[in-house]
Amino acid sequence: MPGCGSMFRSVDGVLHVEGVSVLDLVKELGSPLYVTSRGRLEENMKAYMQAFPDARLLYAVKANNNLSIMKIISRAGFGADVFSDGELYLALLAGFKPEKILFNGNSKSEEEIRMGVRAGTYFSVDSIDELHVLSEVAVEEGEEVKIAFRINPDISPETHPKISTGLRTSKFGIPWEEVANAYRLAVEMPGIVPAGIHCHIGSQILDISPFVEALNRLFDVAEVLEDMGIDVEFLDLGGGLGIDYEGKGSPTPADFAAKILPVFEERKERLNSNPELWLEPGRSIIGNTTILLTKVNAVKKAYKNFVAVDAGFNLLMRPAMYNAYHRVAIANKMDREEEEVYTIVGPICESGDVLAEDRKLPRVERGDIIAIFDAGAYGFSMSSQYNGRRRCAEVLVEGNKYYVIRERESYTDLVGKQVIPEHLLKE
Ligand SMILES: *Cc1c(COP(=O)(O)O)cnc(C)c1O
Repeated sequence: MPGCGSMFRSVDGVLHVEGVSVLDLVKELGSPLYVTSRGRLEENMKAYMQAFPDARLLYAVKANNNLSIMKIISRAGFGADVFSDGELYLALLAGFKPEKILFNGNSKSEEEIRMGVRAGTYFSVDSIDELHVLSEVAVEEGEEVKIAFRINPDISPETHPKISTGLRTSKFGIPWEEVANAYRLAVEMPGIVPAGIHCHIGSQILDISPFVEALNRLFDVAEVLEDMGIDVEFLDLGGGLGIDYEGKGSPTPADFAAKILPVFEERKERLNSNPELWLEPGRSIIGNTTILLTKVNAVKKAYKNFVAVDAGFNLLMRPAMYNAYHRVAIANKMDREEEEVYTIVGPICESGDVLAEDRKLPRVERGDIIAIFDAGAYGFSMSSQYNGRRRCAEVLVEGNKYYVIRERESYTDLVGKQVIPEHLLKE
């Protein structure tokens, strides 16, 4: 299995995550099932920490907000990038220190702002309206809040349009020509301390040059801020480094650092301040740590060879939403010859519920277990109960041991917070 590395391998034709057979996991815990390799997660974090020893690394919580996974990441020394009150709540619960949390978001409510101010996070401010509210709340709470503006650097990396976030037309960030005015305003605002500059140009970016371009933009702004007398504490380049979904290779954190750090050092020399580099990786920390296991319910020869499995876009939205490619394998037939071309579809009542199209695989039969690779980022965290489907369990593997880190939902979880008015309860 090229590109799977030592944490995911075949033993006698059966896929193992570290020392654990995935067939044993499905037998014990049922299907579908998300399975995460702690070993792979540790490798990914170490790669970042070694490549960027002086940077502040903020894990982007939206990629995967499982508490056990976030605890491992916070204990490794990472901070967190949160995008909502709920993510802030979860990040604090997982042990991330507020002074290492950046509260992001283009549409924060006053309640969310107050929660961040009370916790003592940094803020990435996305609009002047938000700046006004943040200032009012900070004064009311008697706090000084350190902020960056999220700037729109007007850069278009080659990625899917839905995950390209630094275009001129994007909803994110302060427009390039307004940036200086925004900081000028912020300097005057009570309770606000302009401390950094933030951008995030997109996700699943495999070419590093747009990051270099964005970093140069951040320094251009830093020079303007210094002229205003602002001490620039940090430059936050956001997240977005892509991973190797297709088995064609992808830049490592070391490759990323080799292109970014020389520019960072060279341009920092020319400043009076001594900014820290901040990065916000999500996908490149958690994406390739996790597989989604799903059982084959039916194989059908129709317009195509359809393999109908028990997981669909309710559990893995990426193929339907972004046309994303995930490698797949038959976990119980790892050493069989590939024979036929199959299209793997989920159980959801939508034609768009396709997980993998036209893949050459060994002969597939009812009862086989399909493994979908690289499902750790934007997998479970984007899941839903659509079609009345309960969310599946999540498992963490550490060597020969495994731990259920989220139980499968029950039918009562489908009822959730629903309330039936009295008159509808009567016969
Ligand atoms: C989504 C997001 C990230 C993480 O992006 P990845 O592609 O998962 O690394 C980082 N920063 C911000 C502001 C984001 O919105």
